[in-house]
Amino acid sequence: MRNTKIVATLGPATSDYETLKSLIAAGANVVRLNFSHGEPADHEDRVTKVRKASAELGVHVAILGDLQGPKIRIARFAEGSVVLEEGAEFSLRTDMDKTAGDSQAVAVDYEALITDCDPGDRLLLDDGRVVLVVKEKLATELKCEVVVAGKLSNNKGINKEGGGLSAAALTEKDYADIELAASLDVDYLAVSFPRTGADLEDARQRMNAAGGNALIVAKIERAEVVATPEAMTDVISASDVVMVARGDLAVEIGDAALPGAQKKIIERSRKLGVPVITATQMMESMMDAPAPTRAEVLDVANAVLDGTDAVMLSGETAAGRYPIETVTAMASVIEGTEAYEPQAIRDEALHKDSGQVDEAIANAAMYTARHMGTIKVVANMTESGHTASLMSRVTGALPIVAFCRRKRVANRLALLRNVTPILISADEMVSDTRAEMVTHALNQRGWVQPGEQFILTYGSVNRPGGTNNMKIITV
Ligand code: PGA
Ligand code: MN
Repeated sequence: MRNTKIVATLGPATSDYETLKSLIAAGANVVRLNFSHGEPADHEDRVTKVRKASAELGVHVAILGDLQGPKIRIARFAEGSVVLEEGAEFSLRTDMDKTAGDSQAVAVDYEALITDCDPGDRLLLDDGRVVLVVKEKLATELKCEVVVAGKLSNNKGINKEGGGLSAAALTEKDYADIELAASLDVDYLAVSFPRTGADLEDARQRMNAAGGNALIVAKIERAEVVATPEAMTDVISASDVVMVARGDLAVEIGDAALPGAQKKIIERSRKLGVPVITATQMMESMMDAPAPTRAEVLDVANAVLDGTDAVMLSGETAAGRYPIETVTAMASVIEGTEAYEPQAIRDEALHKDSGQVDEAIANAAMYTARHMGTIKVVANMTESGHTASLMSRVTGALPIVAFCRRKRVANRLALLRNVTPILISADEMVSDTRAEMVTHALNQRGWVQPGEQFILTYGSVNRPGGTNNMKIITV
């Protein structure tokens, strides 16, 4: 039994049907389509295969579409790459041929880079493998000095240390990809480099206008967003889910500030009742090796102990040599960590005042389960998934089994820590024998044995927010 969920990014390494099915069987609860790579047809093909494989395996898998966002990149080099020497002069230009880069200069598409930068600023290229310091700013050129030397090849990303690039979160490509995501009926849509809550509201409106229902994930990867508690709260409260996007975030704030930022983001998200994904390079060495490093084992474990809902794999499953082994290794590290975890109890959710009946019942169920000590499972019948998500904000080892009648709700719930969705019919949701049905289903699936106790919550009337009953049932 595993409570913390796994997000696996799909790519060339996981495109064929059998591999995808094995990936899900190995424990991927959410799959991520990375709109930075691949054609619409590739994403469509993956969605079809994931839906088929998860149905065959009898599990619910959420699909997360991840927008590329305003990743600022250099253009191309005539020779494909250059080697920059320390102390050399190198220019970023908005007025040159996009394919004519050389050891003197390369083009950038993003005109505002010049406005956004001043002499003294440090620019990190290719995730910081090459570092430039701006020396002089002209109308169409930033004259820089190379301070960290290295090889630079086509289309590598540019970050500014400390943040402050003004690019809007959603580009024209993102708008087109939102349409694509809506047509693929993805469950979650991730927005890259949001600056404020308004960027997330914009994405949500576009998604709704395109006829999609995806919940919005804010990738926290700009220095500005973690700079003050207000900025962080603004972004988190406007999101349905948050992602600690450690790749770009680390480049902007520096490695030294990253551990604290991860802990703060997870803590604040849990406090605000927003689920959180911890992402990037969690098992990076498994791109080329069949086992993780000890440091990676501890990185995954640490995120579990921080209270993350899910941990994410990127290149490891998209383009690595051992995608299935990576998911298996991650699942086993999570299980081991959860078995140890003294369940550092974060009770905030239980102490929040609320006049909502469903919230009162959800918290009462979690409180009772914790303090009775005999409860094996907290089951709920949920129309919108809200009761299950409220329960999953209370940290602990208790499994939460969510009975719902809509496939979309079941898929969404696959991301949440401790929650296992089970699909039932609309009739079963309202039947007078619902308690017997749930008891039977839980027993059949091995969640409870005769003589054991579980809690069931449900609404007398079946509607979102309608939960108003709690029963303690002995099997
Ligand atoms: P990316 O986002 O992989 O899309 O860049 C995650 C991160 O920046 O960590
Ligand atoms: Mn990123």
